[in-house]
Amino acid sequence: MIAFGFDFDHTLGTDHGLERKALYAYAQELGHPLDPDDATWHARLDTLLAEFREGALTADAMVHRFAAVLDVPGADVDRWRAHCYALVDEFVVPLDGAPELLASLRARNVPVAILTNGWTPLQQKKIARALGEDGRTLPILVSDEIRAVKPAKAAFDALVDALGVPRADVWYVGDNARGDAGGALAAGLRAVWVDRDGEPYPPELPPPTRTVRSLRELESLTENTIAP
Ligand SMILES: [Mg+2]
Repeated sequence: MIAFGFDFDHTLGTDHGLERKALYAYAQELGHPLDPDDATWHARLDTLLAEFREGALTADAMVHRFAAVLDVPGADVDRWRAHCYALVDEFVVPLDGAPELLASLRARNVPVAILTNGWTPLQQKKIARALGEDGRTLPILVSDEIRAVKPAKAAFDALVDALGVPRADVWYVGDNARGDAGGALAAGLRAVWVDRDGEPYPPELPPPTRTVRSLRELESLTENTIAP
């Protein structure tokens, strides 16, 4: 039996930079409002968040470094988290046809799970907001809880375990060439690269099993070819 794993951010849904927006909101709360149009700050915060997402910084360390850059004594990671949660409803939306694709797979009894890098309560809230009922019932594996960050093989091993089918029958769908497609292929899964912008695939990586330009294209591919 074929099964599907999905990345979430920029694959099934988008949060429009919610974690960065939450840092701006927290800076305001700390009495140091930042100009959201200042490109230097924008880049600085993205660098900080990238280190956090890769696991190089804990959330606590990231928020403390943020406060230090603002020259504010003390910092409370829970306040930043609260700002993240508060922004979910406003900024998280599904991407082109994600709910329809999941409904189509559900109608054909194709097992589906989500494997995402991030922190569990926020990813759960985002996924529920974007995907509704599917977002509350699908198995969701988040890097902080499984202690493995894509493209690590251990993350894909956890996905295979959750889906309960042989790894060669698992198709992993994601927008990130290295983290999603590259990681899945290296772990013995099949890979669908979602290339909405028509980017060149990194030539040093083994090519994905399939490339699609949209989830609607993937929906017809699953219905006609992969899991009819
Ligand atoms: Mg992604």
